[in-house]
Amino acid sequence: MDYSEIHQLITKAGRKLKLPEDIIDQMLEPERTIEVSFPVKMKTGKFKVFKGYRVQHLGVRGPYKGGVRYHEEVDINEVKVLAALMSLKTALINIPFGGAKGAVKVNPSKLTENELKSLTHRFAIAIADFIGEKKDIPAPDINTNPQIMSWFKEAYEKHTGKKEPGVITGKLVKSGGIKIRDEATGLGGAAVTEEIARGCFKKANSEISIAIQGFGNVGAHIAHHLYHMGFKITGIADIDGGTVHEDGLDYYQTARESKRGKKIPELCFCQIHGPSTDCHKIAADKILESKVDILIPAAIGNVITRKNAHKIKAKIIVEMANRPIDQDAEAILNKKGVVVVPDILANAGGVLASYFEWQENVSGKKLSYKQAKKKLIDQMKKACQDVQQESREKKITMREAAYLIAIQRIATAIIKRPKE
Ligand code: NAD
Repeated sequence: MDYSEIHQLITKAGRKLKLPEDIIDQMLEPERTIEVSFPVKMKTGKFKVFKGYRVQHLGVRGPYKGGVRYHEEVDINEVKVLAALMSLKTALINIPFGGAKGAVKVNPSKLTENELKSLTHRFAIAIADFIGEKKDIPAPDINTNPQIMSWFKEAYEKHTGKKEPGVITGKLVKSGGIKIRDEATGLGGAAVTEEIARGCFKKANSEISIAIQGFGNVGAHIAHHLYHMGFKITGIADIDGGTVHEDGLDYYQTARESKRGKKIPELCFCQIHGPSTDCHKIAADKILESKVDILIPAAIGNVITRKNAHKIKAKIIVEMANRPIDQDAEAILNKKGVVVVPDILANAGGVLASYFEWQENVSGKKLSYKQAKKKLIDQMKKACQDVQQESREKKITMREAAYLIAIQRIATAIIKRPKE
């Protein structure tokens, strides 16, 4: 996605909401773009210089919030796009944060653990002046994890001399993280899926079939929670392909064997018949064309394009990955009447849990796992109902509805902002 598309989507939504142009203008460009270069001592004893970014899009609704990814091919355009989408996501689920994104241009799989730790320390120090628990709060994203978040916090606190666990979320539980964070995106997606299914189908969860592409953090957790809710998961695929059983797959056996290193296409555990030989193997991209009620792309972006959109048979698509459907495909799906639950709603459970973690860190008041789970499900379902209502009332897609709600909330905050 190019940043010009962010301009287009904000402008389009702002005009639909009849916002004054000078209010729309204030949402278009990131408020701050930080580019840093910093040296890291490698195991050879020599220093290597890395490039890092932090883009702070809008802070009018609260501290900037958004992940940090470590990726060799990351560029500033992508970070700007992701930061703007975070502003929309935090507004949509109505938490008092703005939007940001960060990145370091690195392939972390080529670093030793010590190099990764040093790189994280150096990046934290390089952007320390611009972040803080009341300013900007990073979190994990692609190729970053709770351990990296804890290293980041450690370096920030040492550098600033302040104890500030809320400066970053997604930390290890022992350094101020919360238990639910790991599963939160999948759990939030499952809550939204159930809410949508309730309104769309007049049948029991056990009769609603689901196919999932991607069996990493998000795919496995959403599968887990949907299985618990009684849905029939008939297909699961990861990068090596997938397995399908019409009577439903047993999540637990599949997840256990996958964790032991078995590839998904080698597995066949039916939830009714137990270990079985009746599954059929399917290619990773073909799972998207499954004859199911609900399709969940939970792997990577741009998997549904104009090449395969007309082959989609699901009635609902829940976008757990970021932007799995491109613009051309979306137009085709809209024409076919497929309901698309947009990523900024479907995968917002992670940032919501981050908000719970931050609240705990700044207030010292802890939520039990059960309380956090209930709060997360309730807030995700509420956000989903808001989007459904807006979509019904204005006769627009759920994506358009989500953008309108988010942009209206941001505009309200801009209008209320002190003028001087
Ligand atoms: P992950 O790396 O844990 O899992 C992704 C999985 O997808 C891996 O198992 C990988 O093998 C598989 N995969 C890759 N390409 C595939 C393909 N072509 N077909 C089938 N499987 C493929 O990542 P994740 O954290 O689960 O994130 C998945 C998606 O969700 C990403 O788009 C990410 O940006 C988005 N997302 C994640 C979170 C989060 O909290 N983890 C939050 C919001 C959005």
